[in-house]
Formats: sequence, structure tokens, C-alpha cells
Amino acid sequence: MRLSLSLLLLVLISIQLPGCAAEQAKVVPNAQTEFAAFLKDFETRLIPLSRNANLASYEANISGRDEDYKRSEELQLAEKKLHSDPGTFARLKTWRSGGAVTDPILARQLDLLYLAFLGNQLPAEMLAELVARETALERTFNTFRATLDGRTVSDNELDAVLTESKDPARLERAWMASKAVGKTAAPAIVELVTLRNKAAKAVGYPNFQAMQLALSEQDPAQVETLFDELDALTRDDFARVKEEVDGLLARRLGIAKGALRPWHYQDRFFQSAPRVYAVDLDAYYKGKDLVKLADQYYGGIGLPVTDILNRSDLFEKPGKYQHAMSTDIDREGDVRILCSIKPNAYWMDTILHELGHGAYSKFYDPVLPFLLRDAAHAFTTEAIANLFGRLASDPAWLQQMLGLSAQERARIEQPLADSQRLEQLVFSRWSQVMFRFEKAMYENPNQDLNALWWNLVERYQLLRRPEGRNEPDWASKIHVALYPAYYHNYLMGQLLASQFSRHVAVAVLKADDPRRASFTGRKDVGAYFIENVFKPGSRFPWNEMIERATGEPLTAKYYAAEFVR
Ligand SMILES: [Zn+2]
Repeated sequence: MRLSLSLLLLVLISIQLPGCAAEQAKVVPNAQTEFAAFLKDFETRLIPLSRNANLASYEANISGRDEDYKRSEELQLAEKKLHSDPGTFARLKTWRSGGAVTDPILARQLDLLYLAFLGNQLPAEMLAELVARETALERTFNTFRATLDGRTVSDNELDAVLTESKDPARLERAWMASKAVGKTAAPAIVELVTLRNKAAKAVGYPNFQAMQLALSEQDPAQVETLFDELDALTRDDFARVKEEVDGLLARRLGIAKGALRPWHYQDRFFQSAPRVYAVDLDAYYKGKDLVKLADQYYGGIGLPVTDILNRSDLFEKPGKYQHAMSTDIDREGDVRILCSIKPNAYWMDTILHELGHGAYSKFYDPVLPFLLRDAAHAFTTEAIANLFGRLASDPAWLQQMLGLSAQERARIEQPLADSQRLEQLVFSRWSQVMFRFEKAMYENPNQDLNALWWNLVERYQLLRRPEGRNEPDWASKIHVALYPAYYHNYLMGQLLASQFSRHVAVAVLKADDPRRASFTGRKDVGAYFIENVFKPGSRFPWNEMIERATGEPLTAKYYAAEFVR
């Protein structure tokens, strides 16, 4: 029945002739009115389903029970199905190309709905094969256990060896062990990449990476330009810092600088900074009430989150998901976060981070329709979360919130700045590798991927590849297999955090030195974010929102100003 209706619509639209639109309007229902009516009906199905799916996922993450996960999966599948009907997709396409939906709020919803449907238009058997292959790979990664010195070891144990051992030979063995999963997973990843590309071509994109970006309103060329810009801004400073780090690591390990290899950097991918600047942040949070600190801070800047905290699940429980998340259950204010808080720096960062996501969701404009009560992009909400999460290692924040003496603050100021800077530079260079590897891999999955990987690692991270190594080390990074073409958003979230931070310091706080401006106790900071970032939701494409909020589109220059010397 749905099919015949859409056929009828196609006929009606195709007989519209130029010059007689007014005449036709009497006969043919106006496409805009028709789309609005469709939307109303679609919402009655989407809103309760979305609410139930979010709730089920949140509950499964807390209980860890199989039956809760099963229910959550079923509801998520139902949501996918709601967005896959080819008849509805055809109608959306027609409305979109017809150009009669001109009301900006309706047109924006049409765009977003069209993209959501486009991503779900694969033939059923292809969709099933993709899901089956991804699930199999997920199991490979979840169940694989590395072997070190004849013993089976967990990821945590491997990481502990890499960060703590001073024995170069043992470090090498631990790093090699951490790469073993890549050898197991690589053939399945290449097959999956090929299938993803086939799927992308079926809906009109040159490859899967190009499709993923387009579906989230990102232009691949624009993202690449941004990464090029950031590469140029960080290259020399990273080289200088890396020299310094190499000196410190070589001394610590008792080897020559030239003998340093990827296993000497305390992280299997050198994606986060080795601990070379000594500040014990955990000591400041020992015995502190992190929930209260976060609550007070957010309340002080005019973003009250007490209601979110009261609804949330904040401490460890058996079977509970061990990472953290924030979820917007109904887009009507039921926002919750999930944490396993311990009184240390990691969890201070994390609770501030999750409440950043939470505040974003809490303050969407209730006047906007359901579809637009969402973040402008995944990375824009990540930016807000990063911005507030960074405070956990900010000397001014530590002083204001924990009552550190001026002397104590002065003592930790430099080492904290050095470690933050190192962390950002290391992460930014690593993100270059991920973005460029995925792009090249989806352009041609049959090339020598092992060589591609090490060429990029040497170029952007300035690491030296192990002599004679020809192994699929890229395949040991779970994101390459299971969270494809998404990694660049982490870095874009960092860039935008710096851009927001700078803009608020200058435009809201009128600070003489924007680098030393503090938000603490300033309700006008919260008011700025509510009005310019949260309330608009996804009313505008992400770069338009950023430009309206900060006066310019997304740029790498404030991130560079904050972390590059
Ligand atoms: Zn986040």
C-alpha cells in the first residue's frame, strides 16, 4: 500500500509543468504540507521507540544481564528498520529534489531524515552480512588474549608492563604480544572493508569512508584540508617535543636515543603521552567528593546539573559497564550519565566530561521539533565534553575548587602545562595516522597496508619502524575494524574545544590574557553556551552553528595557540 501511494505521488509530481504551479496547487496537495503531515505521523512512531531503545541500552549497561542486552539490541534494530523502508525513502528523495519544502525548520528535518534513511538503504542480505562480519570481528577482539613469556595476559597487564617496565627486551616482547590480535583479525578486516565499499557504491559513493563522512554532513576534502592545516601547525613543535621525550625515555631505559623503538613509548600506539613530567594529580583528588565538586562547578557557571546527577548511576556495581557515558533518554530533559567514580584525576576528568555532554542535551530548545533536539554533530558535543573534562588538570581550577595555596598552584603550573601540551601533540599526530590510513585503505584495500601503516607512523609520529617488520600492525587497532571512519571526530572535538574556550574568554569574559581566563563562578559562560551552542541543537549544519557561535568556521588555529609553542 505504501508503494502504490508513493507511485501515485511520483505521477502527481511528474505532471507538474513549469508555469502552472498555482493551477496545480489546487489539485496536488502542496509538497510541504504533505511532508509536514508525514513527519507528524513518523514522529508518533519514532519518539516512543527511541525513548524505549535509549532506556533499554542504559539499563543493560548498568545490569550487564544478557536479557537486557538482548532487549536493547532488538529495540535498536527496530529503530534501524524504521529508517530503512524504501518506499518512505523514495518519498523523502522526491520531496528533497522537488524543492517545495522551503520552511527552514521543515527543510532541515528533511535533510537529516534523508541522510538517516540513505545510510539504511542497503539490500537486506548485504546488511545482514555486514552485521554478521562485524559481530564476528567484535568477538575476535573481545576474546583474544595475548601471550607474554609463555603466559596468557589481559590487556590491562600488557599496558601495565608497557608503562612500568624499564627492561627494553621485556618491553619489546610486550609490544609484540599486543600486536598479535592484528595478525588474527587482518584478513577479516580487509574482507569487511571490501564489503563496506561495495555497500557504499550501491548507494552512490566512491567508497565507504566517503559515504560515512557524507552521511554525517562532512566533506572529505574539507576534513583533509583541516588535517593538513593542523599537520603544518604541529609538525615542528612536535619534532622538538619528541626529541626531548626521546632523551628522557632513553635515559630512563639506559639505551641510546637511536635505539628507541615503538615499544619504548609506554603505549601500544603512542596515542597518549608517556609519563615524563612528574605531577601526581591523583593526590589532589584523594578523599574528595567528585560528584559534589562537579555539581558545584556546573551550578556556578549557570549550567545546573543536579537533576542529571540525581537520575544517574555513578558508582561501581558488579556487571556494570566500566567506561562512562551520557545518554539523552527522551530529548525532553531526561538526561543521565553513567560512571564508576573513584576519587582520582581520571574520574574527575570523566565526570566533568560526561556532564558536558549532559548539559548540552539538557538545554536543547524545547520549542524545536524532536528531530532537531540533538547535537549539531557527534564532535560538537565531544568538544563541550573535552572543554570541561580538561579542567581536572587545570591549575587555576584545582586552586579554585580544591583550595590549593597560591604556592602549590605555582609549583604544579609548569609541569601540568607541559604534560597537557605533550598529551595533545601526541594525540594530534596519532590522529593524523588514523585519518590518513583509513582514507587510503578505503580508496584501495588491496594495496600493501602494512607498508602504508608504517610509512604514516614514521612520517607523522616520528617513530622508527622495527627492522624488517612486515606485519598487519594496523589491524590491532580496534577502531579500524569496528568504529570505521570516525576517528577524525575525536581530534575535531579537541580543535573545537579550544575554539570555544578562546571565544568565551575573549567575547564573554573580556579577558586580557585569554589563556589564563577562568570560567569558575561565571554564570554568563553557561548562558553563552545555552544560547549559542545547546539551544540550536541540530537546527544548523555543524559548521554554520560554529560560525554563528564563534564568528568563524571550525579552525585549527586556537588549538595550535593553546598547545603549540
Ligand atoms: Zn565524550
